[in-house]
Amino acid sequence: MTTLQQIELRCPICDTAFRSQAVVSTNSFGGKRTDFHERAAGTQPLPYLIHMCNRCGFSGSERDFTEESDVSPVLKEHVWNELAPAIASGSVVGSEKYEAAAKVAEWQGMESRHVADLLLRAAWCCVDEGDVEAERFFRRKAAWKFEEALSSFDGVPRDERAVLTYLVGELWRRVGDLTQAHGWFNKVPTEMVDTSTQQWVLDAARQLRVGPREWFG
Ligand SMILES: [Zn+2]
Repeated sequence: MTTLQQIELRCPICDTAFRSQAVVSTNSFGGKRTDFHERAAGTQPLPYLIHMCNRCGFSGSERDFTEESDVSPVLKEHVWNELAPAIASGSVVGSEKYEAAAKVAEWQGMESRHVADLLLRAAWCCVDEGDVEAERFFRRKAAWKFEEALSSFDGVPRDERAVLTYLVGELWRRVGDLTQAHGWFNKVPTEMVDTSTQQWVLDAARQLRVGPREWFG
């Protein structure tokens, strides 16, 4: 089972203290989708791995609410101008928290890949929220960010390029753009560096090209 616990956080932007739910333990008994979305049995942990300040909208992991957080005047300005006005009363859903966290990461100048990961998680949350439109929106944004990471000189370690190339293809497939999806799946072989450990990526890409699956295993 996934167990949650209430934690106390202090916002590094506006200094507001607030309570949030955090994940104590979880499991992956719910299987893994072909876009690496791992499912838990019981409560899904994803929405509780990111926290949002209910006063200014600053969002991030628990670590982002500690002294280690990189808070510049420029970041503060962005948060007050762009996140604070969008705060809704009532509870926020996971995808909203990840969307805000992705913006924060971008303003902090984090690597494209990190921003892309947050956008991908926003899309995963949308699956549970039953919001197909928003899911596609975040999948597209995640795909573009992963593409950006792949096209930069050292945005992705050499031995992870094949799996991310596959993932970009899979994101486009789930958006419904099969032309782009197949284009990316076809690039997987050229990104392989070690066939003994990466054969599964090649197999997964081939599988999705010929007979789509939703789950691994
Ligand atoms: Zn705040």
